[in-house]
Amino acid sequence: MEYRRLGRSGLKVSALSLGSWLTFGNQIEDKIAEELMDLAYDSGVNFFDNAEGYAGGKSEIVMGNILKKKNWDRSSYIVSSKIYFGAEEKKPNMIGLSKKHLFEGTDNALKRLQLDHLDLLFCHRADPETPIEETVWAMHQIIMQGKALYWGTSEWSAAEIMEAHYFAEKNHLIAPVMEQPQYSMLWRDKLERDFLTLFRNFGMGTTIWSPLASGMLSGKYLDADPTDTRFKMESLGWLRDRWLKEENLNKIRQLKMLADKLGTSLPKLAIAWCLKNPNVSTVILGASKTHQLKETLTSLDIVPLLSDELMQEIDRITGTKPEAVAV
Ligand code: NDP
Repeated sequence: MEYRRLGRSGLKVSALSLGSWLTFGNQIEDKIAEELMDLAYDSGVNFFDNAEGYAGGKSEIVMGNILKKKNWDRSSYIVSSKIYFGAEEKKPNMIGLSKKHLFEGTDNALKRLQLDHLDLLFCHRADPETPIEETVWAMHQIIMQGKALYWGTSEWSAAEIMEAHYFAEKNHLIAPVMEQPQYSMLWRDKLERDFLTLFRNFGMGTTIWSPLASGMLSGKYLDADPTDTRFKMESLGWLRDRWLKEENLNKIRQLKMLADKLGTSLPKLAIAWCLKNPNVSTVILGASKTHQLKETLTSLDIVPLLSDELMQEIDRITGTKPEAVAV
């Protein structure tokens, strides 16, 4: 395993980490969740990603029970939660980034995870109904109380993150350290274009999500319609519609040929491609089966094979490389 600094912070995060969205407390049995965490931890993964909104709080309960059972040294792993979407109930003040919900949401996440502190705490989306001042103050206070060690944002715009930084700096408050954006061969703009100034000016780290575009980039939808997948989950029609398109399948067919030529699998190539970007601190892997994680956990081996020519070929096939911008 390789460990990378989370931006300019002193925290070392494994280049590959494990997330629980849609799987823990939902798509998979707790026994599989435990096997996935075991496999990840034994392979050197030190970061487990979670959120209050995952399975209405159940994902944190499942992960908390596993961490308790394993009794791993607390300093050997990093756990996150994210506040914004609320857990089970979504009444006013049970969602969003108000001081009230940030304080109470954090306390509830800690209870579900059975932890004294979160290592990373994210504001899961920007909240247009809460002044940025209130959110930055609240996150600062949560850190001063020792309930979280670092705070960050997820799917905020570059302008919103910059505003948080300027307010924090002006008032000598703790600023966000990391952002959690979507990033894959098929989804590049924020990380490769919008955030370049953030990396340069603030040294933000990134914990990127959906590196396989929800499984699309595994190639398993090419000539098949597998049943046991998240795209078959009833509530996830919107996700299937986002990704399962002829245009994407055409690109993936060509990417698969590249992977074959390289002597590797498409999931590994897709993850390695994310790892090659130096602004990626960690790639959060998702898996519903242990064999999937076994495969993707070996993706670091492929990074040295990604030549400039190959990267250009991937750009050509995907057509998703953003126009270069001056920063
Ligand atoms: P991916 O895009 O990598 O999708 C993971 C899914 O792809 C798996 O659950 C599995 O789904 C399928 N898959 C994985 N490996 C393979 C393989 N080798 N072969 C075939 N299929 C495979 O990542 P996620 O979308 O799960 O995101 C990763 C993590 O990022 C989440 O768990 C969460 O922690 C975080 N996240 C954060 C968000 C945010 O807003 N901050 C939003 C979304 C995720 P299946 O078997 O069902 O097809």
